[in-house]
Amino acid sequence: MNSNNNDHRQMSNEKARSEFFHLAQNNNIELDERQRAAVNCFFDTESHLSATELLDLASKTCEKCDINDVESALKLLEEYGFAKRRVFENREDETLYEHWHLTEHHDHLVCIKCEKIIEFFDPQLERIQENISRSHGFETLNHKLEIYGICSECMGKREPLMPITMAAQGESVIIRKIHGGRNLVKKLSDMGLTPDTRVEVITSGGQMIISIRGSRVAIGRGMASKIFVELDRDGDR
Ligand SMILES: [Zn+2]
Ligand SMILES: [Zn+2]
Ligand SMILES: [Zn+2]
Repeated sequence: MNSNNNDHRQMSNEKARSEFFHLAQNNNIELDERQRAAVNCFFDTESHLSATELLDLASKTCEKCDINDVESALKLLEEYGFAKRRVFENREDETLYEHWHLTEHHDHLVCIKCEKIIEFFDPQLERIQENISRSHGFETLNHKLEIYGICSECMGKREPLMPITMAAQGESVIIRKIHGGRNLVKKLSDMGLTPDTRVEVITSGGQMIISIRGSRVAIGRGMASKIFVELDRDGDR
């Protein structure tokens, strides 16, 4: 978002802040000093925050603030339509909150390495989605578009050749080198894992599941760390 947009948002955040306190007052909701600190911190920060992250910020202005204060503040902010709950796939067990800008819609790019979240809005893309709905006789109420991947900064930090264990789930890579003795090279080559082969990382938890020419093979992490790969930049899916 550009600076013009930032100014605009700052203004709308100030408006939202006074609107919120006004609504709370009219509904006879008494916010104590600690909850107010949490609310103020939320309006000061234009971000996607978990309750714990908001607590870290709020503690800077109000030492007594604890997680219950932050959670009750967020609950109220959500109830009154100032905060929106988000759960992203790369942080499934965490609920994040962002500002609910009434007249603004945006979608998200999510970096699975550094967890950075980039907001974007593309009118053309919005129109295409609307057309899809219409062609199905479907009335859209809302939609979410989340693109998961690796941000430019994280891409820049990577070495051209890296062990396949560093590749992310869903990434297409080309095997370039196997750092190991003859036995290992033979074992991997029996599985079809030879230099210049293009493979895709399917899962990368304990052992790795790799797709090679349309079939899945499983390899332990120890062995996988010996396989050096290069990103397949023009890999078509
Ligand atoms: Zn959208
Ligand atoms: Zn990143
Ligand atoms: Zn957002």
